[in-house]
Amino acid sequence: MQCRLLRGLAGALLTLLCMGLLSLRYHSGQSPQAVQEAPWQSPPSPLSPELQLQDVFIAVKTTRTFHHSRLELLLDTWVSRTREQTFVFTDSPDEGLQERLGSHLVVTNCSAEHTHPALSCKMAAEFDTFLASGLRWFCHVDDDNYVNPRALLKLLKTFPQTRDVYLGRPSLNRPIRASEPRPHNRTRLVQFWFATGGAGFCINRKLALKMAPWASGPRFVETSALIRLPDDCTVGYIVECKLGGHLQLSPLFHSHLETLQLLGAAQLPEQVTLSYGIFEGKLNVIKLEGPFSPEEDPSRFRSLHCLLYPDTPWCPQLVAR
Ligand code: UDP
Ligand code: MN
Repeated sequence: MQCRLLRGLAGALLTLLCMGLLSLRYHSGQSPQAVQEAPWQSPPSPLSPELQLQDVFIAVKTTRTFHHSRLELLLDTWVSRTREQTFVFTDSPDEGLQERLGSHLVVTNCSAEHTHPALSCKMAAEFDTFLASGLRWFCHVDDDNYVNPRALLKLLKTFPQTRDVYLGRPSLNRPIRASEPRPHNRTRLVQFWFATGGAGFCINRKLALKMAPWASGPRFVETSALIRLPDDCTVGYIVECKLGGHLQLSPLFHSHLETLQLLGAAQLPEQVTLSYGIFEGKLNVIKLEGPFSPEEDPSRFRSLHCLLYPDTPWCPQLVAR
């Protein structure tokens, strides 16, 4: 507790120092910035300790119907490595899940519908819980995402704390358009990039704090209703149209809207998020031989988890000769 308080104080001091010394520039181009291979990194100092997984808040969005079919797979695999900082946001109580997750299961008052307000209501709960947590990064994922905590930490470590960061993968190859209501019954056409929620995305605390006037409390749902777009688009709208920021594109986030088979086995350990689902009537999953068969492990997440974390107790153990 005292340690967190001290870190908080140190963070506040650093923010004050930086505010005086640095002014942030945004790029004005139309396309999202590509991730730099080796961006400038501030050397670790006592005031900004090197980022650890414990500094990253991971929010998983789910709903009643997926508690059994999707959530349990995540709890058995990647969530088992990120228990401390992963919170699951749902719409219905569930004794079994509660037992496994304790206070990390957040039962919101959001309705269990696939509507913009219901989905934005959950994103709002995720955002508010993150702000209250005091952690350094907010990452959102869907309940059909695999998160590789090692790759996530490696990626987030490449960003200096002094920048505003909104990181993810767009689902479109162009900015989305929206009509923004203005005073006196006028509207303004706006366009912006957004990271698709189905591939997961991350926002650092510096940027999240600036988003609060449009995203905290009831305001996220209001903003989403204003532009009549879903939760992930609303995040992009706030960052790009309200704050003049930009989506930073990362090819390491993946949804089931892309052909996951195209990822080579050697590339899998570097990916930050993966997914599975039905695409054009076929199961869209990563290509991975064993250790589990497609029947035992249709999503391939269990096989992937054993490849990445072979010390997991339920993974087939290699017998030493
Ligand atoms: N979801 C939800 N409420 C619903 C339907 C879906 O919260 O009524 C969540 C679901 O748990 C998942 C995300 O929204 O985390 C996306 O849902 P899904 O993968 O079923 O649809 P997609 O948009 O990927 O086709
Ligand atoms: Mn999905």
